[in-house]
Amino acid sequence: MIELEGLTKYYGDTLAVDHLTFTVRPGMVTGFLGPNGAGKSTTMRMMLDLDHPTEGTVRIDGKHYRQLNDPLTYIGALLDAKAVHGGRSAVNHLLCLAQSNGIPRERVGEVLDTVGLTSVADKRSKGFSLGMSQRLGIAAALLGDPKILLFDEPVNGLDPEGIHWIRNLMKNLAAQGRTVFVSSHLMSEMALTAEHLVVIGQGRLMADMSMAEFIQQNSRSYVRMRSPEPERLLDVLHVEGIEAVAVGNGSLEIDGVPADELGGLAARHQLVLHELSPQRASLEEAFMRLTAESVEYHAHDGEPVAAYAGTQEPAPSGWGADWQKKGS
Ligand code: ADP
Repeated sequence: MIELEGLTKYYGDTLAVDHLTFTVRPGMVTGFLGPNGAGKSTTMRMMLDLDHPTEGTVRIDGKHYRQLNDPLTYIGALLDAKAVHGGRSAVNHLLCLAQSNGIPRERVGEVLDTVGLTSVADKRSKGFSLGMSQRLGIAAALLGDPKILLFDEPVNGLDPEGIHWIRNLMKNLAAQGRTVFVSSHLMSEMALTAEHLVVIGQGRLMADMSMAEFIQQNSRSYVRMRSPEPERLLDVLHVEGIEAVAVGNGSLEIDGVPADELGGLAARHQLVLHELSPQRASLEEAFMRLTAESVEYHAHDGEPVAAYAGTQEPAPSGWGADWQKKGS
């Protein structure tokens, strides 16, 4: 279990993590979700005592990281896959880690096997692809057979086979009763992996709930109607006390009324329909709505470009081009 209480981090004037309080529980994958620059890596570094909180605490199974004997046997992490001494072979890298953490040598062969690197164990990691480096980083995280695992954006830059492999690995580790905490800036990725979600924006906690609850609260269902006579359709709906929003192209969106009822209504008024379709807003949209306030716009060549508070990073792919900052 990982417990955060009031965890806060300033870098100079930049507030990277803002009084985060939540608990990461064992036996499930917990997704740690937020736009780029939201404070996910900083939070994870503080969990591992690689960065000092300005305020607040992190407890690993009730203890501070520094109180853990042989910390790799409690908590394993994949932060930056390329942060490995490139001149060493994969097996030597892992042997060094094992030796300094009181872990038996035999474990090195086991974890190389688990991550599928046995055939390149004697090769220098300098020549590894990103996917192989991620696997080596995961081997290091698993080395001490820890009950708690942290993965920071583990699927970034991986091919579909690698992504599939990591997803299954995380689910299996959770099914073994371990605490698995994984960050991502993509809701679509978390929807496939995580059972529980912690969402942050600009360092602040925005949501801490099960994936099922998040879906239930955030997936909006509605019906789209399109008619060559949108004005008359709007009038008919209005008379029936049904609210509709015109979204252009003669299309209307209606919440809370089933499609068959709307179709019947149109037929009774002899209205031609070109579309009558139930719709469901994606979780990605829900996540974007939730974290929209934590996003700043920067003008760029006359085009609005989404950038994230405190950073100059462009919007990651998969966020859609047409979203707008709330309240602006
Ligand atoms: P995420 O992992 O969600 O993308 P980060 O934790 O990397 O977010 O960054 C959170 C904020 O803290 C950003 O504004 C980032 O620019 C800032 N930040 C992160 N690390 C440092 C650092 N070492 N020095 C100064 N600012 C930093």
